[in-house]
Amino acid sequence: MKLLILGGTAEARQLAAALVGRSEFSVALSLAGRTAEPAPQPVPARRGGFGGAEGLARYLRDEHIDVLIDATHPYAAVISTNAADAARLSGIKLLGLRRPPWEKVAGDSWIEVDSLEDAVRAIGEAPLRVFLTLGRKELRPFEAAPQHVYLVRSVDPAEPPLAVPHAQYITARGPFSEADDRALLESRRIDVIIAKNSGGEATYGKIAAARSLHLPVIILKRPALPEVDSVATVGGALAWLDHALTLSTARGV
Ligand code: NAP
Repeated sequence: MKLLILGGTAEARQLAAALVGRSEFSVALSLAGRTAEPAPQPVPARRGGFGGAEGLARYLRDEHIDVLIDATHPYAAVISTNAADAARLSGIKLLGLRRPPWEKVAGDSWIEVDSLEDAVRAIGEAPLRVFLTLGRKELRPFEAAPQHVYLVRSVDPAEPPLAVPHAQYITARGPFSEADDRALLESRRIDVIIAKNSGGEATYGKIAAARSLHLPVIILKRPALPEVDSVATVGGALAWLDHALTLSTARGV
């Protein structure tokens, strides 16, 4: 069974690693090519877009892919929509590996917003020290509020830097522990955090640290994704694939 995993996440990498050595599967991975030096991948990885849903459908047909697995980031809604459309166009099976969102718990002070512009407004007018943990392409709207002091953490450097008088940058790739994030928030005297609800362990440190420091977190709501057959974990994806393999073998017999 030939699989294409749309990746860019820890789960995509973990699923590919779990399938290495399973001779009944041939696995390829696809990355958007957003980061200059992506984490090493356990299987061959291609980089860059396909040219929309039709381009992806063409690729699936040309490469004789049997199953497409959408294991992209929960905020990568365009590629997830393209995956659903391409699977329909090419008549192949699609599985979504959808990481559950973080849930608010007692002690959390979350302000959930629909857009980056709403996130800027939610900070308020008074100058604050703001920790921005967003993709480097999502920073521009914060230039509309230059009175704040920004601390930006991203995987690759923010280029060009924010056109505001006070911004500092940290380039780092998770996982980030609660203890380290708490130390960072304290040493930089952060007042408020802006984050996506990415889910998972790797970037939860700041959420837990904000809770213990009684800091507000402005959270960008998740985009709507197409309704597709989906699982929440790598284990769930492996079970789904084994079942699909059994069905196709039975049909072959
Ligand atoms: P997007 O808006 O869903 O996708 C934009 C285009 O990038 C797609 O139309 C596709 O181009 C290409 N693309 C995306 N993922 C791909 C993949 N796995 N393989 C090949 N092409 C891919 O996604 P985004 O612009 O990357 O990011 C949107 C949000 O997700 C941001 O908030 C970002 O921070 C977050 N995020 C993304 C990733 C990631 O790996 N993409 C990782 C972490 C966080 P074509 O239409 O030409 O096929």
